[in-house]
Amino acid sequence: MQEIITLKHGEGTKASYSLIKEVFLKKLSNPALEKLTDAATIGKLVFSCDSFTVDPIFFPGSDIGKLSVFGTVNDICVSGGIPKYLSLAIIVEEGFLKSDLIKIVDSIKLAARISKIDIASGDFKVVERGKADKIFISTSGIGEKIPQANPSFKNIKNKDKVVVTGSIGEHGISVMLSRKKIFEFNIKSDCQSLNKLVTSLWMKFPQINFMRDPTRGGIASVLNEISLGSRKGIRVFEEAIPVRRDVKAACEILGIDPYYLACEGRAILIVPNTISNKVLNFLKKTSKSAAIIGEIDSSLKGVLLETVSGGERILDFSHSFNLPRIC
Ligand code: MG
Repeated sequence: MQEIITLKHGEGTKASYSLIKEVFLKKLSNPALEKLTDAATIGKLVFSCDSFTVDPIFFPGSDIGKLSVFGTVNDICVSGGIPKYLSLAIIVEEGFLKSDLIKIVDSIKLAARISKIDIASGDFKVVERGKADKIFISTSGIGEKIPQANPSFKNIKNKDKVVVTGSIGEHGISVMLSRKKIFEFNIKSDCQSLNKLVTSLWMKFPQINFMRDPTRGGIASVLNEISLGSRKGIRVFEEAIPVRRDVKAACEILGIDPYYLACEGRAILIVPNTISNKVLNFLKKTSKSAAIIGEIDSSLKGVLLETVSGGERILDFSHSFNLPRIC
């Protein structure tokens, strides 16, 4: 039987990680691509791209326009660049409301201003009714490398601390709740630009070893990617992971584990133990929920979660998590 692509291949699951390695890296590999960072560093440039298919296109706290700017901006930031220019490619389905298109472009304009980038190139296409779902957006971005920022899996050492810049899961749960039309919660997406925060982190703490934004697949997937990339285990403490009470409650109703929920305005940092408290104090000035949630533990394989009740469970990549089109 012919193998087919399924939704899980696009969800930040083990299947998507394997597909990237098996199909894309195998055929297209080169030094920039094979590092598997959020953006490629090419000389003094940091370069990244992303596509956005979120459903619904307007959701509490944000929309596909802002998301398509911040998504690429944040990938450049966590990779040690200051974003400068983005390209913008939009595909809409025939019948799409012009007023909605204008609303989305206004949102892109605002997000570009906040992120201090210009949209330097663009493309717009229309496909027949039923041949796409409303609107898809792709952005590519280039940034200037911050000379002192050198994030790499190779830098990650035993006992390094795992830091998260704020509470997790708000983007994923806000999209899920609006999709399921559950309105008793008032949870807005955390979708925001990391430009200001992350640039100042790199300037102040160039010793930070690695950074990634936990988007699709949530912190569970990012921690597993870091574990695979660095070939070291990670121990995380449930008690320390900042999840808002309303996000937890909504997760219980929907039967979702918050550790797999996408964030669109948070970063996971891998920080030498010696500066971890300084980094945390710096983050706390603007984000009270920032926290040290775990540490690199060379004696482990994969990601181990110490639960509040004192137990331990493996926090694996999601194998079949049904949250397509979250970003
Ligand atoms: Mg990313």
